[in-house]
Amino acid sequence: MLPRNERTVNPGDLRIVSRGHEARKYRVYTRKDLGSIPQLSGLSPERRLAMEAVSAVLPFRVNNYVVDELIDWSDIPNDPIFQLTFPQPGMLAPAEFERMAALVREQADPQQLKEAAREIQFRLNPHPADQRELNVPSLDGEEQQGMQHKYRETVLFFPAAGQTCHAYCTYCFRWAQFVGIDDLKFANRQAEGLQRYVTQHPEISSVLFTGGDPLIMKTAVLRRFIDPLLDPSLSHVESIRLGTKAPGYWPQRFVTDADADDLLRLFERVVASGRNLALMAHFSHPRELETPIAQLAIRRIRRTGAVVRCQAPLIRHVNDSAECWAEMWRRQVRLGCVPYYMFVERNTGPKEYFHVPLARAHTLFRDAYSTVSGLGRTVRGPSMSASPGKVVVDGECTIQGERVFALKFLQARNPEWVGRPFFARYDEKAAWLDDLRPAFGEREFFFESEFRRMKEDRLVFADA
Ligand SMILES: *Cc1c(COP(=O)(O)O)cnc(C)c1O
Ligand code: SF4
Repeated sequence: MLPRNERTVNPGDLRIVSRGHEARKYRVYTRKDLGSIPQLSGLSPERRLAMEAVSAVLPFRVNNYVVDELIDWSDIPNDPIFQLTFPQPGMLAPAEFERMAALVREQADPQQLKEAAREIQFRLNPHPADQRELNVPSLDGEEQQGMQHKYRETVLFFPAAGQTCHAYCTYCFRWAQFVGIDDLKFANRQAEGLQRYVTQHPEISSVLFTGGDPLIMKTAVLRRFIDPLLDPSLSHVESIRLGTKAPGYWPQRFVTDADADDLLRLFERVVASGRNLALMAHFSHPRELETPIAQLAIRRIRRTGAVVRCQAPLIRHVNDSAECWAEMWRRQVRLGCVPYYMFVERNTGPKEYFHVPLARAHTLFRDAYSTVSGLGRTVRGPSMSASPGKVVVDGECTIQGERVFALKFLQARNPEWVGRPFFARYDEKAAWLDDLRPAFGEREFFFESEFRRMKEDRLVFADA
């Protein structure tokens, strides 16, 4: 292990955050704890019943930091972080909401509630098949669960022990897979599979850990996955990325958690190995960057030599204004972070409640982008992670009398598709790539026939 780095682990840091109190202990609230969140006691009985009804269907998990420091309880229900984490009546269709509310009101038995919930969940999620089974690579003829290799340069890795989060976003449907396995033997086997796969694939330059949230794992577990990748024989791995919402939902992970300093030392080891360690931080709202502990967490991460890149989906009721994004990017730049992606929310889950059409998403993106300096214009978006690749809406224009969207791939299953402009008919309501039709009377987009052949060859499955 490297000698203790005083710059990373600075005892003065702790004074800034403890504000005279003990370090905050992580306390999680799920559906059964709705009654014990003090801030909810002021809400009307109907609102609490509504929360119970909706949280039977949609994921619900918050923690004391989100509740005490991020939500403005004087602005309920409009508060963006409240909308981000607490179930809202409008997230279900009216009839479904009424059905669940009735069951809760008459104190139906848990089994009945569960069955009703499952029916609604099935309708909300058009792809109930586990996304992780798609693009699953194989190693010596054996499918590697917990990996996705869709774009040549980057392999996605889902450690089984990282399949949960410090709090849940209400729009997220990955929770269907949240089945955290805290088995070290399994972790070792998975880590060994990752190392062998990356060894056999010299085209991989980036390994992206995702979840859930890989930083839900203890440092001791995380290092079992990361350390083997630092071996000199894997010099083709240029970067290791951690997709995480911990800086937003639980910045204590980097400051006061018992193994926070060990985590920072792990980051330092990656950097010392000559690789880029990037935290792909999910920030939904500028408020998540305002608390002293979040700012301290970012400073500590950056002192290790790691880079913080920021991304989030555009979500109605949470961050659907240009001011919100401009403010978020400005704060990120101030803190030395790099704005990276604005995503369009995938069309799953309670889509109607959260959805922002592409036309509006682009206008909003441009309005925000045009107000920040070049340091904030590292961000790309609005981008759809669709089955053929990541497609950005570059703009809207009129060409020879036809109003069109200009689109291009930022990532694609075939790298040759990347960066080639293509055009779709303008459609004010379209919210996803499937809703778009080619412009200029063409029958299909340039990549479609090849993509169809890929699917027929079973290089890809369904939608991922
Ligand atoms: C977004 C994504 C990546 C990473 O793409 P970058 O543009 O390199 O950030 C890798 N794999 C999958 C499946 C993705 O969706
Ligand atoms: S942090 Fe990410 S994985 Fe976790 S609930 Fe939110 S969107 Fe889903």
